[in-house]
Amino acid sequence: MKRLVSLLLFIAAAAVTPAAEPLFTITPIADGVYAAISTPQYKTNCNAMIIVLDDSVLVVDTHSKPSAARALITEIKKITDKPVRFVVNTHFHWDHTQGGQAYPAAWPLNLEIISSEKTRENIERVGIPRVKTQLLGMPKDIYRIKGELAKATDPKVQAKLQDDLKQAEGFLEELKQMQLQLPTLTFERSMILRRGSRTVQFLFLGNAHTDGDIWVYLPKEKVLACGDALHGWVPFMSDSYPYDWIKTLEAVEKLDFEHFLGGHGGVFHGKEQIKVWKSFLTDLLAETTQAYSTGATMNETVAQVLPKLTAKYNTSFPDFAQRAPGTIEKAWRMVSGDTK
Ligand SMILES: [Zn+2]
Repeated sequence: MKRLVSLLLFIAAAAVTPAAEPLFTITPIADGVYAAISTPQYKTNCNAMIIVLDDSVLVVDTHSKPSAARALITEIKKITDKPVRFVVNTHFHWDHTQGGQAYPAAWPLNLEIISSEKTRENIERVGIPRVKTQLLGMPKDIYRIKGELAKATDPKVQAKLQDDLKQAEGFLEELKQMQLQLPTLTFERSMILRRGSRTVQFLFLGNAHTDGDIWVYLPKEKVLACGDALHGWVPFMSDSYPYDWIKTLEAVEKLDFEHFLGGHGGVFHGKEQIKVWKSFLTDLLAETTQAYSTGATMNETVAQVLPKLTAKYNTSFPDFAQRAPGTIEKAWRMVSGDTK
């Protein structure tokens, strides 16, 4: 009887618990080249590009935690039995680097981690201390979620918060064991990897989302990947160089590519997204400068500029309403010289 009850409870639980969504959706872009699009989660994971070489595999970016990188490794093993020998850090941010330790754990021999020299410096100087900041901040996050959960009455909200809580607790455990990997192969401007039929270019084309962003370019396949210097969401501005960024995007536009994958959002075909970003950054800076020049405070500038940007870009980015105000705040701080 007891067994029957537990079996019934198990069946009931299975009926109400939807199957966990996979962390990545794998989409072929060219022969042996795949986009791994990350499913949005409480703690963001970046996308990855998987490039199968003649003798090994190259992966662009490593997400926010080792368990996410391990989920991608499971997907890579379904595609090929070749070992991952090259991992790229497009830039130093946590959601692109913190899963790195999963790769030497899976393939301990001859693994190279590639980045610009600047990104290596940034991981050492900023990325590693940020792990500690996250570690100290997570208990507060968990406390907040528990508080919201206690007050929530809508079953859908409860389920979402329960999932967030599980993820937050899991993330805290992973942070405690995290060993950020420093790149082992760096360059200033460019580097070319030749592996038989595949040529991969690593290009630093100027400051953009950070001062070390690299572009991974397959000239023969006309495929381009990067981290957050171009993608499907609103640009993340916090460590950025907005004026340089526009010029860097102009340089990127000159590359001969047809398919593009950024760190967030989906795969793009053609160069339209570059035009959208150039236009957005140009308007953001021009409108913010204009408001600042009339003496507007940061909040007043957001109030003046947001409706103008909304009219033009609301449909260009899925997260526009949520994240556009922050871009104006960053632009105002930059224009006003307030770096706090
Ligand atoms: Zn990112």
